[in-house]
Amino acid sequence: MSDPLDLPVAEQAARVRDAADPLTARALVDASLARIAAHNEALNAFLHVAPERARAAADRVDADVAAGRDPGPLAGVPLAVKDNLEVEGLPLTCGSRILGTWKPLRTATSVARAEAAGAVVVGKTNLDEFAMGSSTENSAFGPSRNPYDVERVPGGSSGGSAAAVAAGLVPLALGSDTGGSIRQPAAFCGIVGFKPTYGRVSRSGLVAFASSLDQVGPFARSVADARRLQAVLEGPDPLDATSRAFVTPGSAATPVPRGLEGLRIGRVAEMTTERRVVGTEGVDRVEGLRAQLDAAGATAVDVALPAIAEAIAIYYVIAPAEASSNLARFDGVRYGHRAEADSLERLYAKTRAEGFGAEVKRRILLGTFALSAGYADAFYKRARGAQVALGQAFAEAFERCDVLVSATTPTAAFRLGEKTGDPLAMYRSDVLTVAANLAGLPAVSIPAGFNEQGLPLGLQVQGPVGADALVFDVAEALERQLATCRYVAPEEAA
Ligand code: GLN
Repeated sequence: MSDPLDLPVAEQAARVRDAADPLTARALVDASLARIAAHNEALNAFLHVAPERARAAADRVDADVAAGRDPGPLAGVPLAVKDNLEVEGLPLTCGSRILGTWKPLRTATSVARAEAAGAVVVGKTNLDEFAMGSSTENSAFGPSRNPYDVERVPGGSSGGSAAAVAAGLVPLALGSDTGGSIRQPAAFCGIVGFKPTYGRVSRSGLVAFASSLDQVGPFARSVADARRLQAVLEGPDPLDATSRAFVTPGSAATPVPRGLEGLRIGRVAEMTTERRVVGTEGVDRVEGLRAQLDAAGATAVDVALPAIAEAIAIYYVIAPAEASSNLARFDGVRYGHRAEADSLERLYAKTRAEGFGAEVKRRILLGTFALSAGYADAFYKRARGAQVALGQAFAEAFERCDVLVSATTPTAAFRLGEKTGDPLAMYRSDVLTVAANLAGLPAVSIPAGFNEQGLPLGLQVQGPVGADALVFDVAEALERQLATCRYVAPEEAA
C-alpha cells in the first residue's frame, strides 16, 4: 500500500490534518484525478469530472492546515457524488437528457456536509435515469461497467459511484437508495454500501424519485470508511421536513466495541431458497457462512416474514406513484431541455417525449395509473396498507433478533444487456433490498467473497428503525469475521 489514496480514510485525513506530514489534500486529489483520467473511459463511472473545482477545494484544505485550522474528519479525501445530488456550479443530469445543460444553484445538504468535513468532490457519477434501474443501463449517457468484468453491469442505480470506489478511483462516494440502489451496486462491485434509516440524512438537494423511500448514503472500501462518511452526513436539516434526530445513538457515535458474541442474528426463511422466493449463488453463499457466524458466538434465530414476498409488488406501486408526481416538474419550462412547439400543451408533451427514456416513461405511466381516480383504492391505497403491515412484521421480527442477515442480491453481477429486454427480471434483482426502504430500516451490504467466476457477492445486515449504529457495529464484526473464515457450501455443511 504505497499509494496514500489506498489507505483507510481515517489515515488519509489524519495525515492531511498533520501539518508535519508531507501528504497534502492536493496530492490526494491529484492522485484521484489521475486514476480517473486513466480508467474512466473503460468504466464510464463519471459523467463529469471537476478538476478545477476539486483542486481549489483541496488547496483550501491545505491552507487551513497550514494556518492551524482543522479542516475536519475527511480532510482532503476525494469524494465522488452520484449525479442526482446537486453540487453548485457542476452540471446535474440525473442520467437523463431532460435536464439539458441545467446547473443547480446550490449544493445538496449531504454533499455540503461532506465538504464541510474536508472531503473534496472530484466529480459526478453515472446512474440509471432518475435512479430508476438496477444496472445503470438506463442512463442516457451509456452504462457504467463493473471493474471486475467490464462486460458486466456494476449494478444500479448508483452504479457509477460503486464502480468508482471499487476501481480505486476514489476512496468514498455518495449514492441514493430508494429500493436498493446503494446496496445492490455495492454487492456487485465488492464494496461496502450503507442505506441509513429513513430520515437520518437530509434529502435536500437530492432529486426526488420516491420521496418516502429515498435516502442518501455512503460507498466505501471498508465499513469503517463508510461509517466515517455517514457520521458527517446525518442529522436534522431545516430544508428537509422528514429529516430528524434519532433518540438511539447515531452512527456518528463511537462504535460500541462488540463482536458477534451473544448477538441474535435473524434468518428470514423468505430471504433464502427455502420458500423458493429467491435463489441461487448470492443466497447460497450467505447460507454457507451461517455456521461460522454461530461459531463466532452469535445465536441464530429463524424468523418468518411472509410479508416480504410482497415487497417487490408493493414497491413497484408506491415508487412509480411518487415518481410520476415528482417528475411532473420536468416540463420544458423550468429546467433544461425544451422542445419546439406551437402550444404550451404540445411543449410539455414533446419535451417529455424527447427528454425521458423508456424506463422513466414506463414508471410515469405505471404511477399515474396507480394513482388515477377509480384505481387508487385498488393499487396505491392497497399497497400502502401492505407497506404498513410489512413494517409491523419487521418490528415484530426485531423483538426476537437484533439484526437480520441475508444476501444482498440473489446473484452476482449480470451481463450488460442480459435483463434489458425484461423489465420484470430487472425489477426482481431488488427482491432482497426493497423491503428495507418500505420499512425505513437501516441496511448495509458488505463483501462476502466471490463466486466461481471471481465476481463479488454481498451480505446484507438490516436493523430496526434508528439502529444504524448497531448495523455498523455488526457489519464491522462480520467484516473481521469474514476475512478469516472459509466458505462452506450449503450442501457440504449438510
Ligand atoms: N432498482 C430499483 C428501481 O429501479 C431501485 C432503484 C433505487 O434504489 N434508486 O426502482
